[in-house]
Amino acid sequence: MAEMGEKGFAIAALKRREPLLWINPELAPSQKVLTGLPLGGRHIKAAEARLRWFAPLLSHLFPELKSSGGIIESALVPVPAMQAAMERYGKEARSGRLWIKADCDLPVAGSVKARGGIYEVLLFAETLAREKGLLNSGQTAIRLGEPDVRDVFAGYIVAVGSTGNLGLAIGTMAAALGFKAVVHMSADAKAWKKRRLRDRGVTVVEHDADYGSAVRAGRDQAAGDPNTYFVDDEDSEALFLGYSVAALRLQTQLAEQNREVDGDHPLFVYLPCGVGGAPGGIAFGLKHVFGDDVHCFFAEPVQAPCVLLAMTAGPDLSVYDMGLTVDTEADGLAVGQASKLVTGLMRHLVSGIFTVDDDDLFRYLTFLYREEQIRIEPSAAAGFAGPDFLLNSSRGKSYLQRHQLNDRLDQATHLVWTTGGRLVPDDAFAGFLHRGNALI
Ligand SMILES: *Cc1c(COP(=O)(O)O)cnc(C)c1O
Repeated sequence: MAEMGEKGFAIAALKRREPLLWINPELAPSQKVLTGLPLGGRHIKAAEARLRWFAPLLSHLFPELKSSGGIIESALVPVPAMQAAMERYGKEARSGRLWIKADCDLPVAGSVKARGGIYEVLLFAETLAREKGLLNSGQTAIRLGEPDVRDVFAGYIVAVGSTGNLGLAIGTMAAALGFKAVVHMSADAKAWKKRRLRDRGVTVVEHDADYGSAVRAGRDQAAGDPNTYFVDDEDSEALFLGYSVAALRLQTQLAEQNREVDGDHPLFVYLPCGVGGAPGGIAFGLKHVFGDDVHCFFAEPVQAPCVLLAMTAGPDLSVYDMGLTVDTEADGLAVGQASKLVTGLMRHLVSGIFTVDDDDLFRYLTFLYREEQIRIEPSAAAGFAGPDFLLNSSRGKSYLQRHQLNDRLDQATHLVWTTGGRLVPDDAFAGFLHRGNALI
């Protein structure tokens, strides 16, 4: 069977740590898939509305949000010089236009985690305040910043396990609302991310093990304590829906830029993927907005392709079972086991998954800085490998053929989601460039 062949190919290449593009044989028409899922468009809209309700409070808590009225959003940016540089380097992306969704500049948390992570903390705060009778209908979110509410929040812990960026988002938001915040960090977490959290009064618990262990430790500790709320990155609908709101915002931005998306103007989106929540939530939202005209691809490190493994070989496997070590500089993607919630929801919606080795991450990061003066972290560079895979690999070409996209490629939008970077310290970024320059 052709599908078994595809699966066998993916697992063999994955074990050899070879970059690959896997095309999802179970991709199905989005209309049909979406109506059968437990989460739908009204959940996305409700999340969007909640973020708008909270905007005045966020604007009050974070001066950097004054100009956007308390909405945390990133720009949609054309990157023609980057596209030209990629072509010179042989990573052809000539068909269509290359854009980035610059979550690398998201305020407050500096990464895509600002979307889901901050949303879940806000949802918890609102729910708790209502339960305690502290928030009446008709009151605005400003109420949740008043001293008597903060005093109640101070009796609660918001905890999370993280490789770094989720901890930054959750820790920063929780601390700003007056909660105690505890972040369980895996061994891959960068020292500067821990320091930044501690500077904000967040308790950082360091674990001498990987991300999955840090999550488990946090979950176990929270389970025994009614005053601890645990944000479970491996199984959270709130995170997922917070991420999905990006699609509604992107729809507006594309319209503002006169970038059409329809049957003749395909949108290809390349999303860096760790446990799966951020790319999954965003892709879920995009499918609601653009249906079959959007093609979503996830990007994983060759050392940590956990969502690829879950989709091809089964949701219970971890990449360690395949002899991989999760040894990657892409700390935001350094995850051994996928979220089952996400792989279940994405089963028939994701077009494919590709893997990238670390050297390429540093090359793309360096090109983007040289050509466009945009700073991203290594994880956020993974999506740039997408257009070349899609346009030039045999599997990518047959995908284009099967979906009758070949004569529409000139009108295509290739959107690379650059998921983090704003908070990277200068010396760390100089180190990234040093490594990239040596490779180019
Ligand atoms: C966390 C993260 C991702 C991926 O999100 P998941 O929900 O773990 O899949 C991508 N890029 C960056 C920079 C991240 O921090």
